[in-house]
Formats: sequence, structure tokens, C-alpha cells
Amino acid sequence: MGKHRIILDPGHGGVNPSTGQYVTPGKRSFHPVDGAVYYEGEIMRAYACTWANILRNAGYEVVFTVEPTDYTDVSLNERIRKVNTFHAQKKSILVPIHSNGVRNPTAHGHEVFTSPGVTNSDQLATFWIEEFEAMFPNIHVRKDFSDGYPDKEANFMMLTLSNCVAIYLELLFHTNDAEVRILRSQEFKEKTGQALLRAIIKYEQWLN
Ligand SMILES: [Zn+2]
Repeated sequence: MGKHRIILDPGHGGVNPSTGQYVTPGKRSFHPVDGAVYYEGEIMRAYACTWANILRNAGYEVVFTVEPTDYTDVSLNERIRKVNTFHAQKKSILVPIHSNGVRNPTAHGHEVFTSPGVTNSDQLATFWIEEFEAMFPNIHVRKDFSDGYPDKEANFMMLTLSNCVAIYLELLFHTNDAEVRILRSQEFKEKTGQALLRAIIKYEQWLN
């Protein structure tokens, strides 16, 4: 079978360029780090751009639930409607892209989620973790082996209501000052994009 269509889903709304206002409540660093507040929705759009370039250069078709140039906080229902339309046209892989936030400023590490139960998404998530750990040996991956696979499971709407294989990434914690610096770096954007490409290639080889 041929390559999948890759649907990148940058979480939340971004920054309105005409007012400079971030349109998403919460979803930001606690305070400025190196002079700037980190806005999850803004930075996730930058990840979507970088990853799309890497995947397209490798021959993949990439589409978005919200264009990275569009700051609108598109509803989950609208995102899911787009995902299922894209997937009905061509077999797709969905990647919601987020950074994590909690009250505890020391919480850190990477998480990847799939829907509850065992599906092909668990296999893609396993390949993603392998590639992520190979790329970032010093970053802790928070795992859950309760279903036999290392990824975590969650009833996130983007996972349970979308019809295609999906891995929901919480890249690092934007409530952790050290991780905000990594999240903002272009190097991390590019290396995670390379890891995603390798995971998708492994997954497609596994399907064949
Ligand atoms: Zn988020």
C-alpha cells in the first residue's frame, strides 16, 4: 500500500497578528522565560510547519486541521469533522500536537497517548517512542504498560472520535522552565519531525 496522508493537528488557538493577543485561555508558561511567555497554541503551529516540511520532503502528503497561519481556536468538533473527511478521501494518520501543562513546575518529560484498547495506533505510538528515545536519550518518556504497549491511553475526543490511526503528542511540559526552552528551540522542532518521519516509515513497513 502507498503512503498515508498525514494530518497535523496543532492544538488550541494562536496569536492574533493584528492585536498581538493570544486567543486561548491558559495553555502558556507560568511566567516569561528568557523574556517571553510561551504560548502553546502559537508554538504548536510552528511545529506543524516544521514537521510538514520534513514529511513533504520525504514524499508525504500533509494536511492540517487548522492552517498554521490561522490563529483561530478551532473547536474539537470541527477538527474531528475535518479529520474524518480527510481520512474518508485517503487513508490517514492523525497527529495532534501539544505541550503539557500542570500546576507542579517540576513535572517534566514526554507523553504520547492513544485511544483505550489495542489498535494499530498503539503500534505507531511504540515506534514513535523508539525513535523519540533514540533521538533524545536524556528526555524521560512517561510510559504506561497496562495494555502491553508503552504509550498512555486517554479518552481524548481527538482520539476516540477520529476514524484513523492517531497518536496524540504532549511533547514536553510548558509549565517547566527548562522544558520551555527546549520546546522553543528550532533544533527540537526539527529533531521531533525527523523522529515522526522515521516512526511513520517503520509503521508503514510493519503494515506491509
Ligand atoms: Zn494542549
